[in-house]
Amino acid sequence: MADGLAIAVCGAGIGGLASALLLARQGHHVTLFERFETPQPAGSGFMLQPTGLAVLDALGLFDRIAERGAWIDRLFGCSHPSGRVVLDVSYAALDPGYRGLAVQRSALFDLLYNAIRREAVTIRPGMTVLRGVNGTLEFEDYAAAGPFDLIVNALGTRSALSAHTPGRALAYGALWATLDWPEGGPFSPHALEQRYCRASKMAGVLPVGIAGEGQTPKATFFWSLHRDAYDRWRDTPLNDWKDEVRALWPETEILLDGITGHDALTYARYHHRTLAKPYGAGIVHIGDSYHATSPQLGQGANMALLDAFALAQAVATEGRAEIGPTYAQLRQGHVRLFQMMSRMFTPVYQSDSRALPILRDRIVGPLSGTWPAPALLGALVAGTMGFPLARLGLKRSQGRWDHRPSRQSIKTP
Ligand SMILES: Cc1cc2nc3c(=O)[nH]c(=O)nc-3n(C[C@H](O)[C@H](O)[C@H](O)COP(=O)(O)OP(=O)(O)OC[C@H]3O[C@@H](n4cnc5c(N)ncnc54)[C@H](O)[C@@H]3O)c2cc1C
Repeated sequence: MADGLAIAVCGAGIGGLASALLLARQGHHVTLFERFETPQPAGSGFMLQPTGLAVLDALGLFDRIAERGAWIDRLFGCSHPSGRVVLDVSYAALDPGYRGLAVQRSALFDLLYNAIRREAVTIRPGMTVLRGVNGTLEFEDYAAAGPFDLIVNALGTRSALSAHTPGRALAYGALWATLDWPEGGPFSPHALEQRYCRASKMAGVLPVGIAGEGQTPKATFFWSLHRDAYDRWRDTPLNDWKDEVRALWPETEILLDGITGHDALTYARYHHRTLAKPYGAGIVHIGDSYHATSPQLGQGANMALLDAFALAQAVATEGRAEIGPTYAQLRQGHVRLFQMMSRMFTPVYQSDSRALPILRDRIVGPLSGTWPAPALLGALVAGTMGFPLARLGLKRSQGRWDHRPSRQSIKTP
């Protein structure tokens, strides 16, 4: 497009930053609106999958994120008190070149934010979006802005611009904290490890690498918690909760020492919502504003990156009227598949069900080691089920990942 479109990107999260970067590099006039006065990352460490990494590779950011993150070969979980292994997914079962990269959210945020500051993107912080009407945006405390040729809704789970489909609050969320990585400690530096008691208790430890140069490696620690139990948890002495965590997973002692008060943990609430149509007149919805869910499958940030890439492709190839339908066509199949999988799998790990964890521990866990389950589970975790990269003409970054799968064994109870 010769003159470039006037594009408003709403939300400086992962999807918003990636789409602002891609669209600015195409020569469009991009304005990025964010409610925080100082744009900043909000949320726990997370896993970049081969899908999200392929997008970062296309953005020229792969090497720098790889320097900061922790390579993950395997997802491993066992049930308490039986000690039964109920989750053991290895990326290598899908492809020896695949693995995940666990990162601190600030590591990815800084890379993307610094990259857009080198482009001609107008950044408007401190602007809370209320509505988008006919290409114009309305804000809390500020005059409306626009008209824009295109509004990109990247406002996340509770997006004001996809309030027409509110979705469903999930019963369980999680407390999380970023803590010092215990070097030489009881956890594998190349695995996401979890422990479960039925589906109502779950703890997780994920090595997430460094936030930036000269920083020390960290771990993200998770504890599943029912949304109705949060207030009670805050009113309970922290040591009572620590006793509960130790009873489930004694090795976490070394991490619990770093949690000195309730405020060291943040509670994340989860929501499930999938828009039937991720676009409207002059607006497209990307990331969690299009497809929010629990992070059990570890795909949300990666899907936001894929959405941003698909949107940029639609903008580059289509006239204005066709941008939304083309974007939807590129993403809808993959999004529907993973939203369905997430709806199926979340209650297996986070719910009050008594039957599902029994099924998980006695039947699904043992069967998951039998062909073709390892490769299917690998594709589920890697996010490659449904071939989202091929649809976007993206190449996997295989061959440039110089990390060798770890031989360090995981200690089982
Ligand atoms: C505990 C936890 C663990 C997770 N683990 C993983 C994982 O391992 N792998 C993975 O891929 N995903 C994971 N996720 C999911 C992932 O974080 C999200 O899917 C991803 O951040 C979505 O990106 P987004 O850009 O759509 O939204 P967000 O990153 O939420 O960004 C939304 C932005 O919009 C801004 N905003 C919101 N409302 C307004 C408004 N009205 N006006 C202006 N600005 C506004 C916000 O401040 C924010 O900057 C996890 C999530 C949680 C909570």
